[in-house]
Amino acid sequence: MVKIFIDPGHGGSDSGAVGNGLLEKNITLMVAQEINLILQNEYEDIAIRMSRTGDATVSLSERTEAANNWNADFYLSIHINAGGGTGFESYIYPGIGEPTTTYQELIHEQVVADTGFIDRGRKRANFYVLRETRMPALLTENGFIDTTSDANRLKESNFIVKIARGHVLGLEKAFSLTKKQSKPIYRVQIGAFSEKVNADNLAAQASEKGFETAVLFRNNLYIVQIGAFSSRNNAEQLAAKAEDAGFSTYLSN
Ligand SMILES: [Zn+2]
Repeated sequence: MVKIFIDPGHGGSDSGAVGNGLLEKNITLMVAQEINLILQNEYEDIAIRMSRTGDATVSLSERTEAANNWNADFYLSIHINAGGGTGFESYIYPGIGEPTTTYQELIHEQVVADTGFIDRGRKRANFYVLRETRMPALLTENGFIDTTSDANRLKESNFIVKIARGHVLGLEKAFSLTKKQSKPIYRVQIGAFSEKVNADNLAAQASEKGFETAVLFRNNLYIVQIGAFSSRNNAEQLAAKAEDAGFSTYLSN
């Protein structure tokens, strides 16, 4: 069992960097949720926790303590860069050695390969989350929010998926993760919107009624999902429950 802690940078009252109509906290959450979903759907023998799953204010010490208390095997912090520039860079703690250096190399190279980002290099910095975590930790800076060409790519859901895929494939190599036997996944969804706020509102209504919700960004639509199953029967049961609660549902794979 490999325990991976995913930390979407910023959140809540801390928007992170801002540029080109984007807030860093929203992009980091989308990338992190995508990484989480791919890992959960496609790999076995892994456990994942996230420092936040919504637009919440979480302090740096709360993030690292959650990972330390859980005894995570790896801490992955997702950020978007700012300050003028373009491309991808990643950070580990100064002076740290193996296996962190290998993890950085594998994930860094894969994200660059999958995104086509300009490679700004593997770097080291005395960042709080790298210093205070007791497990190997990596922080990635995925493009520049204040550079129009990078920001335009970050606005595309397909590009968010590419960033996530790069991280996941790097994690697969770093931790020799095992892929699930491919079988169909039945997703129970209750709405699709072009405006994120509408998806968030519906997700909040479903949460209030006891459903576990996730908002996915697919083909430039925000989709509200309440479950994903390998058994069609289980998916249909949840769909029926949601219909009873007043939601219209559809199954997707
Ligand atoms: Zn940041």
